[in-house]
Amino acid sequence: MQQFIDNYDFTGKKAIVRVDFNVPLNENFEITDDTRIRRAMPTLKKVLEKGGAVIIMSHLGRPKKVDPKFSLKHIVGRVSECLGVPVQFADDCQKADAQAAALKPGEALLLENLRYYAEEEGKPRGLAEDASDEEKKAAKAAVKASQKEFVKKLASYADCYINDAFGTAHRAHGSTALIADYFPNDKMFGYLMEGEIKAVDNVLKNGQHPITAIIGGSKVSSKLAVLENLVTKVDNLIIGGGMGYTFIKAEGGKIGTSLHEDELIPDAQKIMAIAKERGVNLSLSVETLVANDFSNDAETKLVPSHEIPDGWEGMDAGPKSLEKWREIILSSKTILWNGPVGVFEMPNFAKGTLQIAEDLAEATRNGAYTLVGGGDSVAAVTQMGYADKVSYVSTGGGAMLEAIEGKELPGVAAIRG
Ligand code: AMP
Repeated sequence: MQQFIDNYDFTGKKAIVRVDFNVPLNENFEITDDTRIRRAMPTLKKVLEKGGAVIIMSHLGRPKKVDPKFSLKHIVGRVSECLGVPVQFADDCQKADAQAAALKPGEALLLENLRYYAEEEGKPRGLAEDASDEEKKAAKAAVKASQKEFVKKLASYADCYINDAFGTAHRAHGSTALIADYFPNDKMFGYLMEGEIKAVDNVLKNGQHPITAIIGGSKVSSKLAVLENLVTKVDNLIIGGGMGYTFIKAEGGKIGTSLHEDELIPDAQKIMAIAKERGVNLSLSVETLVANDFSNDAETKLVPSHEIPDGWEGMDAGPKSLEKWREIILSSKTILWNGPVGVFEMPNFAKGTLQIAEDLAEATRNGAYTLVGGGDSVAAVTQMGYADKVSYVSTGGGAMLEAIEGKELPGVAAIRG
């Protein structure tokens, strides 16, 4: 049975909380962006305020074995500062029995990186490149078998389980999904998870029409399932950025040397056909800022998006595209944005993405619900100072993409199921 933090009695209880503290560190192991730590604080603080203790667990990076570079001890100081209590540290997530047992109400313990153990992901490690299928199968079975013990140990530390790690909710890992089985009546979402799930529902399930999705970024292949789902849900589908050129080529346009994927042209045509059939306004770029080189200092000019000359490549949306998209955005009640509409990392090609961020902020001011979901568009709104001017900015890249593909995430299913 799923519980809710606000109703749960944490008095004298220990909560094991899966968070996503996979924060970027510089070469001196200093945190360069602590957003993920800060976003988990409401949940952790709530447990402490309500008389509980927290055992915090996370992964950091992608270590394939114990590796001090990926130690969570680098972040203990910042977590303590944010939480307002000194956080103890267990330097082996599988040997924290005594520390967990000694925790008193109001105290916090952070476990060392879960991914020091292959059992967290449940995938074998160290297999020889030329391992036979049999060997691969045996190694997989072995790690799956020891995964049960790994998860059981983590569960043994606590009375209840909270999943607040949206960033890994699309993974069926030990700490994100399997552990929930040990807490059939004492498992719940943290506030961040709850917020992310609601944000997606606000668009895909309960969104007020007109609903607009703006999908940009580099490749159609990485967002095909997203487009296939959205085209059945939205009124307007704006496709920009590098992936737009595959669609423009699919319509018979000339795209010069712009990024595109020929093998995905049939998929693009299928999506355009579905849009037509369903009366969805699929809006591509009409004017493009092209460059004669993939460089910030390249020579540039504005051309119609379907007539890009040979030797030139599309780098950003032009003013006519942006004007058309602005009208769509400002007449929408619900807007989802994923992926930049240009090579925004280069200042000369960031204007389009900045304009979209501004339009979203304006739509939000006018009462629309706006969700910025995943990866580079989140970086763009944050970098450009618009993060608090839209309704919701997601913390999950891959997880958000899978959620807008319409999939139920394993981390979500484990709590609800
Ligand atoms: P994604 O991870 O799929 O959301 O893609 C983000 C990347 O798409 C960013 O690094 C952008 O620079 C890139 N991108 C956006 N527009 C273009 C374009 N016209 N040509 C090449 N790359 C682009």
